[in-house]
Amino acid sequence: MAKIKKDRREFIQYSTLGILGLVLAGGVVGAPYLKADENRLRPPGSVEEDRFLALCIKCGQCLQVCPYHSIKLSDFAKGYGIGTPYIDARERGCYLCSAVPCVLACPSGALDHSVEKPEDAHMGIAVLINPDTCLGITKQPVPRKHIDRIYGHPHTREVEEEVLRKLEEFDGKACTICADMCPLSNPLSAIAMVPHKDGGRRPEIYDGCIGCGVCEELCPVDTPAIIVKSRVTYDEYYKKGKKV
Ligand code: SF4
Ligand code: SF4
Ligand code: SF4
Repeated sequence: MAKIKKDRREFIQYSTLGILGLVLAGGVVGAPYLKADENRLRPPGSVEEDRFLALCIKCGQCLQVCPYHSIKLSDFAKGYGIGTPYIDARERGCYLCSAVPCVLACPSGALDHSVEKPEDAHMGIAVLINPDTCLGITKQPVPRKHIDRIYGHPHTREVEEEVLRKLEEFDGKACTICADMCPLSNPLSAIAMVPHKDGGRRPEIYDGCIGCGVCEELCPVDTPAIIVKSRVTYDEYYKKGKKV
Protein backbone atom coordinates (compact mmCIF):
# COMPACT_ATOMS: atom_id res chain seq x y z
CA MET A 1 0.00 0.00 0.00
CA ALA A 2 2.83 2.34 1.01
CA LYS A 3 4.60 1.53 -2.27
CA ILE A 4 1.48 2.35 -4.33
CA LYS A 5 1.21 5.73 -2.57
CA LYS A 6 4.91 6.43 -3.21
CA ASP A 7 4.52 5.48 -6.89
CA ARG A 8 1.52 7.75 -7.25
CA ARG A 9 3.42 10.59 -5.59
CA GLU A 10 6.35 10.09 -7.93
CA PHE A 11 4.04 9.83 -10.97
CA ILE A 12 2.35 13.12 -10.07
CA GLN A 13 5.73 14.79 -9.42
CA TYR A 14 7.26 13.61 -12.71
CA SER A 15 4.07 14.30 -14.70
CA THR A 16 3.94 17.83 -13.33
CA LEU A 17 7.63 18.39 -14.08
CA GLY A 18 7.11 16.91 -17.53
CA ILE A 19 4.19 19.18 -18.33
CA LEU A 20 6.06 22.20 -16.92
CA GLY A 21 9.08 21.27 -19.02
CA LEU A 22 6.96 21.00 -22.15
CA VAL A 23 5.34 24.36 -21.46
CA LEU A 24 8.73 26.03 -20.87
CA ALA A 25 10.31 24.31 -23.86
CA GLY A 26 7.35 25.32 -25.99
CA GLY A 27 7.77 28.90 -24.81
CA VAL A 28 11.50 28.99 -25.53
CA VAL A 29 11.24 27.20 -28.86
CA GLY A 30 8.05 28.95 -29.91
CA ALA A 31 8.90 32.48 -28.76
CA PRO A 32 10.94 33.58 -31.80
CA TYR A 33 8.18 32.31 -34.10
CA LEU A 34 5.51 34.09 -32.08
CA LYS A 35 7.61 37.25 -32.16
CA ALA A 36 8.09 36.96 -35.91
CA ASP A 37 4.38 36.32 -36.43
CA GLU A 38 3.15 39.23 -34.42
CA ASN A 39 4.39 42.77 -34.76
CA ARG A 40 2.87 44.27 -31.67
CA LEU A 41 1.77 47.91 -31.52
CA ARG A 42 3.82 49.58 -28.80
CA PRO A 43 3.15 52.87 -26.98
CA PRO A 44 4.40 56.09 -28.57
CA GLY A 45 8.15 56.59 -28.41
CA SER A 46 8.96 52.87 -28.34
CA VAL A 47 12.48 52.20 -29.53
CA GLU A 48 13.22 49.43 -32.05
CA GLU A 49 11.65 46.12 -30.88
CA ASP A 50 14.74 44.19 -29.75
CA ARG A 51 16.06 47.20 -27.82
CA PHE A 52 12.59 47.77 -26.42
CA LEU A 53 12.47 44.22 -25.07
CA ALA A 54 15.92 44.65 -23.56
CA LEU A 55 15.26 48.06 -21.99
CA CYS A 56 11.68 47.78 -20.72
CA ILE A 57 11.75 46.93 -17.00
CA LYS A 58 8.02 46.07 -17.01
CA CYS A 59 7.24 48.64 -14.32
CA GLY A 60 3.85 49.56 -15.82
CA GLN A 61 4.40 53.31 -15.29
CA CYS A 62 3.26 54.12 -18.85
CA LEU A 63 0.05 52.20 -18.30
CA GLN A 64 -0.67 53.95 -15.01
CA VAL A 65 -0.49 57.47 -16.44
CA CYS A 66 -2.48 56.74 -19.62
CA PRO A 67 -5.86 58.48 -19.27
CA TYR A 68 -7.48 56.41 -22.03
CA HIS A 69 -6.71 52.87 -20.81
CA SER A 70 -4.84 52.40 -24.09
CA ILE A 71 -1.92 50.38 -22.74
CA LYS A 72 -1.99 46.74 -21.67
CA LEU A 73 0.76 44.50 -20.33
CA SER A 74 1.49 41.25 -22.16
CA ASP A 75 0.60 38.13 -20.24
CA PHE A 76 1.75 34.51 -20.62
CA ALA A 77 -0.68 33.95 -23.48
CA LYS A 78 1.31 36.40 -25.61
CA GLY A 79 4.32 34.06 -25.47
CA TYR A 80 7.15 36.59 -25.38
CA GLY A 81 7.91 39.96 -23.84
CA ILE A 82 5.77 39.05 -20.85
CA GLY A 83 4.96 42.16 -18.79
CA THR A 84 5.84 44.60 -21.57
CA PRO A 85 3.32 47.27 -22.62
CA TYR A 86 1.41 47.10 -25.89
CA ILE A 87 -1.68 48.56 -27.48
CA ASP A 88 -4.51 46.43 -28.79
CA ALA A 89 -5.83 48.96 -31.27
CA ARG A 90 -9.20 47.29 -31.75
CA GLU A 91 -9.76 47.52 -27.99
CA ARG A 92 -8.42 51.05 -27.53
CA GLY A 93 -6.12 53.09 -29.72
CA CYS A 94 -3.75 55.73 -28.41
CA TYR A 95 -5.42 59.15 -28.30
CA LEU A 96 -2.14 61.04 -28.60
CA CYS A 97 -2.09 63.12 -25.41
CA SER A 98 -0.31 66.36 -26.22
CA ALA A 99 2.43 65.91 -23.60
CA VAL A 100 2.76 62.12 -24.20
CA PRO A 101 2.71 61.29 -20.46
CA CYS A 102 3.47 57.62 -21.10
CA VAL A 103 6.85 58.60 -22.55
CA LEU A 104 7.56 61.00 -19.68
CA ALA A 105 6.75 58.28 -17.16
CA CYS A 106 9.07 55.68 -18.69
CA PRO A 107 12.18 55.41 -16.48
CA SER A 108 14.19 53.03 -18.67
CA GLY A 109 14.50 54.56 -22.12
CA ALA A 110 12.25 51.91 -23.69
CA LEU A 111 10.03 54.87 -24.59
CA ASP A 112 12.36 57.45 -26.09
CA HIS A 113 12.23 60.82 -24.29
CA SER A 114 13.16 62.65 -27.48
CA VAL A 115 9.49 62.05 -28.43
CA GLU A 116 8.03 65.20 -26.89
CA LYS A 117 4.78 65.45 -28.84
CA PRO A 118 2.56 62.95 -30.65
CA GLU A 119 3.79 63.99 -34.10
CA ASP A 120 7.30 62.81 -33.11
CA ALA A 121 6.07 59.24 -32.62
CA HIS A 122 6.06 56.56 -35.31
CA MET A 123 4.04 53.65 -34.07
CA GLY A 124 2.95 52.33 -37.46
CA ILE A 125 0.78 53.21 -40.42
CA ALA A 126 -2.94 52.94 -41.15
CA VAL A 127 -4.00 50.75 -44.07
CA LEU A 128 -7.46 50.33 -45.63
CA ILE A 129 -7.08 46.58 -45.54
CA ASN A 130 -10.71 45.58 -46.25
CA PRO A 131 -12.09 48.19 -48.66
CA ASP A 132 -15.04 45.91 -49.49
CA THR A 133 -16.40 46.37 -45.99
CA CYS A 134 -15.75 50.10 -45.70
CA LEU A 135 -19.09 51.82 -45.05
CA GLY A 136 -17.82 55.00 -46.68
CA ILE A 137 -17.36 53.12 -49.94
CA THR A 138 -20.51 50.97 -49.70
CA LYS A 139 -22.52 54.03 -48.58
CA GLN A 140 -24.05 52.23 -45.61
CA PRO A 141 -24.99 54.24 -42.50
CA VAL A 142 -23.03 53.73 -39.28
CA PRO A 143 -24.88 51.01 -37.34
CA ARG A 144 -25.83 51.61 -33.72
CA LYS A 145 -24.30 48.34 -32.55
CA HIS A 146 -20.80 49.53 -33.41
CA ILE A 147 -21.21 52.69 -31.38
CA ASP A 148 -22.47 50.53 -28.52
CA ARG A 149 -19.39 48.32 -28.96
CA ILE A 150 -17.19 51.25 -27.92
CA TYR A 151 -19.32 51.73 -24.78
CA GLY A 152 -18.07 48.27 -23.85
CA HIS A 153 -14.52 49.62 -23.63
CA PRO A 154 -13.34 51.46 -20.51
CA HIS A 155 -14.86 54.93 -20.18
CA THR A 156 -14.40 56.01 -16.62
CA ARG A 157 -12.60 59.24 -17.43
CA GLU A 158 -13.88 62.50 -18.89
CA VAL A 159 -11.60 62.25 -21.94
CA GLU A 160 -13.06 58.82 -22.72
CA GLU A 161 -16.61 60.14 -22.31
CA GLU A 162 -15.69 62.89 -24.75
CA VAL A 163 -14.73 60.28 -27.37
CA LEU A 164 -18.15 58.64 -26.93
CA ARG A 165 -19.93 61.99 -27.23
CA LYS A 166 -18.20 62.66 -30.55
CA LEU A 167 -18.86 59.14 -31.78
CA GLU A 168 -22.60 59.49 -31.07
CA GLU A 169 -22.75 62.12 -33.82
CA PHE A 170 -22.13 59.40 -36.43
CA ASP A 171 -25.07 57.20 -35.41
CA GLY A 172 -27.01 56.37 -38.60
CA LYS A 173 -24.96 58.82 -40.68
CA ALA A 174 -22.50 58.34 -43.55
CA CYS A 175 -19.24 56.95 -42.20
CA THR A 176 -16.27 59.27 -42.00
CA ILE A 177 -15.28 58.07 -38.52
CA CYS A 178 -11.67 57.18 -39.30
CA ALA A 179 -10.97 60.59 -40.80
CA ASP A 180 -13.05 62.69 -38.41
CA MET A 181 -12.00 60.94 -35.20
CA CYS A 182 -8.27 60.86 -35.97
CA PRO A 183 -6.78 62.43 -32.82
CA LEU A 184 -3.85 64.23 -34.44
CA SER A 185 -3.97 68.02 -34.07
CA ASN A 186 -3.84 68.16 -37.87
CA PRO A 187 -5.75 65.03 -38.94
CA LEU A 188 -5.70 66.05 -42.60
CA SER A 189 -1.96 65.38 -42.58
CA ALA A 190 -2.82 61.71 -41.89
CA ILE A 191 -6.16 60.84 -43.43
CA ALA A 192 -8.99 62.27 -45.52
CA MET A 193 -12.13 60.96 -47.20
CA VAL A 194 -11.81 61.12 -50.98
CA PRO A 195 -14.19 60.07 -53.78
CA HIS A 196 -14.06 56.36 -54.59
CA LYS A 197 -14.10 55.18 -58.19
CA ASP A 198 -17.30 53.12 -57.66
CA GLY A 199 -19.08 55.92 -55.81
CA GLY A 200 -19.01 56.64 -52.11
CA ARG A 201 -15.92 57.93 -50.33
CA ARG A 202 -12.89 56.11 -49.06
CA PRO A 203 -10.23 57.04 -46.53
CA GLU A 204 -6.87 57.96 -48.03
CA ILE A 205 -3.78 57.79 -45.82
CA TYR A 206 -0.97 60.35 -45.88
CA ASP A 207 2.50 60.49 -44.43
CA GLY A 208 1.39 62.37 -41.31
CA CYS A 209 -0.25 59.19 -39.96
CA ILE A 210 1.67 57.95 -36.94
CA GLY A 211 -0.25 54.68 -36.45
CA CYS A 212 -2.08 55.49 -33.23
CA GLY A 213 -4.77 52.88 -33.95
CA VAL A 214 -7.82 55.04 -33.16
CA CYS A 215 -9.25 54.53 -36.66
CA GLU A 216 -8.93 50.75 -36.18
CA GLU A 217 -10.63 50.89 -32.78
CA LEU A 218 -13.60 52.94 -33.97
CA CYS A 219 -14.14 51.55 -37.50
CA PRO A 220 -17.82 50.47 -37.27
CA VAL A 221 -17.76 47.09 -39.00
CA ASP A 222 -17.27 43.60 -37.55
CA THR A 223 -13.86 43.12 -39.16
CA PRO A 224 -12.28 46.58 -39.29
CA ALA A 225 -11.89 47.96 -42.80
CA ILE A 226 -8.92 50.01 -41.62
CA ILE A 227 -6.12 48.69 -39.41
CA VAL A 228 -2.67 49.77 -38.24
CA LYS A 229 0.47 47.99 -39.37
CA SER A 230 2.80 48.44 -36.43
CA ARG A 231 6.41 49.53 -36.90
CA VAL A 232 5.87 50.11 -40.62
CA THR A 233 6.41 53.59 -42.09
CA TYR A 234 4.36 55.39 -44.71
CA ASP A 235 7.20 55.16 -47.22
CA GLU A 236 7.72 51.45 -46.58
CA TYR A 237 4.07 50.59 -47.13
CA TYR A 238 2.84 53.10 -49.67
CA LYS A 239 5.97 53.89 -51.66
CA LYS A 240 8.08 50.74 -51.46
CA GLY A 241 5.09 48.39 -51.37
CA LYS A 242 6.21 46.55 -48.23
CA LYS A 243 3.29 44.19 -47.53
CA VAL A 244 3.44 43.02 -43.95
S1 SF4 B 1 -0.11 59.25 -25.61
FE1 SF4 B 1 -1.73 59.28 -24.06
S2 SF4 B 1 -3.33 57.89 -24.86
FE2 SF4 B 1 -1.44 57.44 -25.97
S3 SF4 B 1 -0.53 55.71 -24.83
FE3 SF4 B 1 0.44 57.64 -24.12
S4 SF4 B 1 -0.75 58.22 -22.31
FE4 SF4 B 1 -2.00 56.71 -23.46
S1 SF4 C 1 -14.26 54.15 -40.26
FE1 SF4 C 1 -14.09 52.21 -41.37
S2 SF4 C 1 -16.06 51.99 -42.42
FE2 SF4 C 1 -15.89 54.14 -41.80
S3 SF4 C 1 -15.02 55.19 -43.59
FE3 SF4 C 1 -13.30 54.62 -42.23
S4 SF4 C 1 -12.58 52.63 -42.97
FE4 SF4 C 1 -14.62 53.00 -43.85
S1 SF4 D 1 -5.05 57.82 -39.61
FE1 SF4 D 1 -5.61 56.36 -38.00
S2 SF4 D 1 -3.67 55.49 -37.24
FE2 SF4 D 1 -3.18 57.32 -38.48
S3 SF4 D 1 -2.96 58.95 -36.96
FE3 SF4 D 1 -5.10 59.01 -37.72
S4 SF4 D 1 -6.33 57.69 -36.35
FE4 SF4 D 1 -4.13 57.29 -35.98
